[in-house]
This record gives sequence, structure tokens and C-alpha cells, in this order.
Amino acid sequence: MPALTRLAENLYVHHGAVNTGIVKDGPRALLLDGGGAELESALRELGVERVEAAAFTHHHREQTLSAYALAARGARLYVPKAERGLFEAVEDFWREDRYFWRTYKDMPLTRALPRNVPVARALAAGESFEFGPARIAVLATPGHTRGHLSYRVEVPGAGPFVFCGDTLCGIGQVPDLFSLQYKEPVVKSDYHGFMGARGELVASLRRLKEQRAAALIPSRGGVLREAAAALDATVANLEAAYLNYQSISALRWYYPEAFAAYAGCPQNMPLSAQFPYPDWLKHYNTCWVLVSESGAALVMDITNKNVHEQLESEHAKGVFGAMEVVWLTHYHADHTDGIVPFQARHPCVPLWTDARVADVVERPRAWKLPCVDLHPLKVSRRTEHGESWTWREFKLTAYHLPGQTWNHGGLLAEGRGKRLFFGGDSFTPSGLDDYCAQNRNLLGRGRGYDACLALLEELKPDLVFNCHVDVGFTFNARELAYMRAQLARRETLFAALTPWPHPDFATDENWIRVDPWEQDARAGQALRAKAVVWNHATRAIRVELRPAGPDGRAYGETAALDIPARGAGEAELKFLVPADARPGRNAVPFEVALDGKPLGAIVEALAVVRA
Ligand SMILES: [Zn+2]
Ligand SMILES: [Zn+2]
Repeated sequence: MPALTRLAENLYVHHGAVNTGIVKDGPRALLLDGGGAELESALRELGVERVEAAAFTHHHREQTLSAYALAARGARLYVPKAERGLFEAVEDFWREDRYFWRTYKDMPLTRALPRNVPVARALAAGESFEFGPARIAVLATPGHTRGHLSYRVEVPGAGPFVFCGDTLCGIGQVPDLFSLQYKEPVVKSDYHGFMGARGELVASLRRLKEQRAAALIPSRGGVLREAAAALDATVANLEAAYLNYQSISALRWYYPEAFAAYAGCPQNMPLSAQFPYPDWLKHYNTCWVLVSESGAALVMDITNKNVHEQLESEHAKGVFGAMEVVWLTHYHADHTDGIVPFQARHPCVPLWTDARVADVVERPRAWKLPCVDLHPLKVSRRTEHGESWTWREFKLTAYHLPGQTWNHGGLLAEGRGKRLFFGGDSFTPSGLDDYCAQNRNLLGRGRGYDACLALLEELKPDLVFNCHVDVGFTFNARELAYMRAQLARRETLFAALTPWPHPDFATDENWIRVDPWEQDARAGQALRAKAVVWNHATRAIRVELRPAGPDGRAYGETAALDIPARGAGEAELKFLVPADARPGRNAVPFEVALDGKPLGAIVEALAVVRA
């Protein structure tokens, strides 16, 4: 693709990390979004001496990190009214713990600008303005972000052209699925809202179609001349993907009304068989207690302080004997909160968990994951996949169970005449707990839920348990095969809907991350961290990261990683906390390139400057 496309006299698109619209009026210009160092030379080539204004579609750094340089040179910044705070008061967001830890209602703050930037004008749907020969109308196109706008540009004799940001990014495609993680009228937390913004997005795509544009210019990919076909294909692909997702979703058990529109759909898996559980199993909120014939107890997860107290009183009443071991299924706070007071009271009772769960609960600040609590836990034993041991009369076998979240374990308990499988939060009788993209649900044979279902096929437990479900259940061979087939179809459907070398790049925002995500620092300090990259593709990739300071200039060295197909890579990162960093949390964004193609500043390290 050439670096510049001429749409009409005085109207250009520059193709960098994102597409930038350039409306020219003699030596002055208006930009629509804007990013990338190469933009400067493109502007010079076009004879632009002065950028007078820049209008942004939404607040993500890929589109906006140039705002500091533009403002410093006198450009007026126009931003979506609904996202104004994420420009001029974004530092207030970075300082709020609730956007980082124990995130449930809202997902972790992502891709926001690091510093406040002055806003000249906040734009809302229905407004319009003129620049030289162009008339620009503002359209509301929420979905990818809540306040996302598109700009319809009319110039004499051509158009209209619609700059539509990240609403779509090609024929039938959206740039990612994790941005669509959003609460719905029924499901009131972002956490449970996989593709929850699709309703808003589809309405936006229909609004774009009504514009009868001569071309759509999304942030990524080429100019779309067949606008209606591109939009229709995107709506169809979104719907097909969601139909598949809901057909085997655990939410059909928790919130059946969330999928009322899909009731009776032939793809939907009927509920699996449910059974009462033996009286030597006890259930308190998310906590299962396995009681041996001796009365000794193995406790799985401890929801919170109240459940901890309840366990103590049940023990005092003789419902079970000594609590000898705690097994932790995964890192979510509604499974770990009670472990903090439990460990304070019983410092010698061991905590066992899968090694990948231990990685999170021992170093919670290192991770950008939902529902992580900040208190580190002391893990006594990190289990590996398939490791067995004996506790009382039970044979226990631990598994890595990358279901509800990748950092998750399963436990098979064989004893007292039963084979019980404790699957944490990974299954309900209606299917899979894969309602949160930020939990990292990978697709493909032998990965993510496919691996979990293959494990159930192999183990054939008598009963499966979920921490939040007060019955035992089983999946028969037909149900297991059906869920695996639906996941295989999902891989194809998500691949059609997203532009990446594998669709997991579109659901797993953490495919590239900085470890630790957050660390303490002093202003001006040189810090180290690791870049951790998972290559979801079935071919090798090359990834580069360059620290980008608050003004977009490099503040450290570029790191490069070559990662084999389906492999992982790590590289050391060295970067500087800005000398003028203020007390509290400061974001240091990194520009990322994949196979030489710039993606924008899609990751960040967090430096907490103590006053
Ligand atoms: Zn975006
Ligand atoms: Zn959970």
C-alpha cells in the first residue's frame, strides 16, 4: 500500500500505524486522527505548513498519541464529547485503582493516553464544522469505544467520504473483540459481556451505511470503496460469531434472559444432566469442601472473609475436622479474598495451586487481568499438569485447565467410591464460562477450552463441579464432541471477523504484555521489565517494542523478538519514567510493530511514583 491515497482534491489519507485523514486548505491542514512519525514527512510532501486542528474518532493511543506533538505546535484538538475526560483529565483515570485491580464492572483501563492533553472542542453527533473547502459532519458510532465518532467529509465534486475509526477494518472485519467486552441491559458487568457492545456497533454500522459514502476510511487497512458491502458483511460476521458463542455459553445457565433473542436456536446445546452431590462434599458460596472419612477437610477456594468465618464455625460445630489443605482453582478475587484472612489465622496450612495460577496470586501487580486482588498469597505447592499425590484416602491429580481463564487449574479427586472433577469456574450445565475476552480464552485444537474438553473426554469423571453451581453435572460424549465442534467453527468464524494472523490476537489483548505491568518507581528512574509475547499464529512472527514517552519520543531502547509458530518469547525492556512524573500511577506506553507493520502504542508499563 502506498503511504498516501488521494481521495479528492485537498483530501488525502496517510497510511501509518493508523490511517490519518488530511484535509488541506493551502498551507494549512485539518487531520482526522493521526499517528506515526512518517506522517510528518507526508505532510511536508503535500506542502502543509501548519496543522490547525485534529479531530479524533476515539481516545485510543493508536489514533491519539500524536496529540501532544500536535498541541505543542499549536493544533486545536477536537475530541468526542463522551470521551473528553479521557483526553483532558486522563491522569485522573490512571490514578483510580478500580480501573486496574478487582476489575469486574469495568474492564482494566486500556490504550488510554498517558497524560492530559488540552481539548479545544468536544464534538457530538449532529454537529458539523467547516475547514477550507470541506464540510465535516459528526456521526455517533459507538461500539468499539462508548464515545466513538465518525467524520463524514464532503468536498466539492467528490464524496462523501466517511472516516470511521475502529468501527470496522475491512470487508466483514472489526479490529478486535476485546474492545467489545461490555455490559448489556441484562448482564450488568463488563466482565460478563463478551461482545456485549455488538448491539451498539451493529447500529453504528447501519448508520454508516445510511451515509451512502463514496468510500469508508477505517483506521486500519485500505480505503473501502464498496462501503455497503463491507458494512453488511461485518454485521453478518458479527451475528454468526455471536450465535456460535452463545450456543454453548455458561451464561445460558446463569442469565438465561441474556440470550432470550436466541431461544430455540437449533445451535443451542440443551442443558446437561445434573445430580445431587454426596454429603461428604460441602458448598459455601464459591468454596467446595472435600471431607475425608476421618473428618479432615480439603478446602477449595475461599470466597471472602464471611465464608472464611463460616468455615471456622462449621469446623467448630464439628461439620468437618481440621482444614488441612487449601486448593485454589484460579486467581479471581471471589476465590481468593477469604484466603488472605485464612492464611493469617492458619499460617501452616498449605496452599496448593497450578503453577500458572501461582504466577498471578504471588505477583498480582505483574498482570493485567480482570478481578485480580492486590494482596499476594503464599503458595506452598505449585502443581504441574497431571501431577498426582495422596491426601487422606483420596488420590488427587492436578491439571492445567485453561478454561474460564488461562491461569486456571482443575483437580480430579478419586476416593470414597467416586471420581469427582473440580473444574473451578470453567463449566456449567449449559457450557463454557468464556464470557470475558480479558480472561484469555484461546481457540484451536489442543488449546484453551478444546484442551479442557479433551481432558474431560479422557478422564470421564462421575461428576463435574463449578464453584458457583450448587449441583454436580456431567457432559456425555455427544455433548463434549458438540462443544469441541462449535469451538472449531468459532475459530473459523472469528478468523473471518478479524484481520490478524490468528483470531486469538483479536480476543487476547494480552498476547503482548509488559511484566510486571505495574511497579513502584521514582520520577526519572530507569526501569526494567520483560516484554512477554505469545505468538498465536501458526507461522513465525517478529515483534518490536519501543518505549514512547508522553510526547511520543523514545525514552529507552527498542527490543526485538523472533517467535516461532505457536511459541512464546521474552525480551528485556529498559525504559525511563518521565522526570516530571507525578505521584501516583504513570503509564509508559510502548509502540509495537508486528512483522515490520506498526500497530501503534498498544501496551504500557505502569510506574507508581510514591510521594
Ligand atoms: Zn481503538
Ligand atoms: Zn472466576
